[in-house]
Amino acid sequence: MHKTALFLLMTGAAFAQAPTNAHAENAKRIAGTQWLPAYNFFCVAPRANAATDPPIAPAKIFDNLYVIGDSGTVAYALTTRDGILLIDSLPANQTETVLLPGMKALGLDPAQVKLVIVTHGHGDHSGGSFYFQERFGAKVALTSQDWDMLRPTDGKGKAQANAPQRDVIAVEGTPLTLGEVSVTPVLTPGHTPGSLGLIFPVKDGGLTHVAGLFGGTLLLPARPDVPTIQTYLASIAHFKEAALRMKVDVELQNHPLMDAIEARLAALKDRKAGAPHPFVAGAENYGAFLDVMSECLRAQRTDLP
Ligand SMILES: [Zn+2]
Repeated sequence: MHKTALFLLMTGAAFAQAPTNAHAENAKRIAGTQWLPAYNFFCVAPRANAATDPPIAPAKIFDNLYVIGDSGTVAYALTTRDGILLIDSLPANQTETVLLPGMKALGLDPAQVKLVIVTHGHGDHSGGSFYFQERFGAKVALTSQDWDMLRPTDGKGKAQANAPQRDVIAVEGTPLTLGEVSVTPVLTPGHTPGSLGLIFPVKDGGLTHVAGLFGGTLLLPARPDVPTIQTYLASIAHFKEAALRMKVDVELQNHPLMDAIEARLAALKDRKAGAPHPFVAGAENYGAFLDVMSECLRAQRTDLP
């Protein structure tokens, strides 16, 4: 049996076929060819990331941006004149096996990590951050809501395994800066109460592009209750507004199950001088990616008022 089909069977996810309603049709039309992988994931076969997701070779995507992980979950390293800024940090059990070897392969010195921005308080994004905090004194940033998940304040429950010590609080619209690079956090609750979307500049030769990373993507749409889904849909709209305002033209995910990261990395490897960059989607096109996310969710959650 196909792995996806088996997974859907095991998890009881209900969307082995695209729902046929106006929202699904809308999603397909908006997706076109550019965002077809997103349509196929969100509308047809959403699934969680899995331990069996194939590894991707550590890669340099832009002059100042690197990716490490597997096709289900990745971390990014942004290099600055004052050190390395990590975006997410993979699960704790991959620090020694994936993250550090990946950095080494890319020529990135782990001791130069000064700041880790964790997009939300789940272990597959936060797990590695403790290592950099404890060993190299790196700062770790999360929203206060998601710090409460990782490390609840006294009397409100137990800290998660491998949780970093409470540190920087990421605030909507207040840039987190290292060296010359500023990352703008956009609050996108839904997947967790304090999930973050991030917007930051990346360099390609003499050109600066603006990357958008929606860091709290809901992979299993059947699960949350209706109010949470409504919060999440509002978050997608909020991030779209920020992305349009800040002219986001590069689409990135921390769970790159729906944006053809492997094909884009392969295209990047073969890129001829002066040819378009496969990760640059165009400022006029990024919003459509988010619209596919929300239209597919509306197509599946027919219980929404
Ligand atoms: Zn998560």
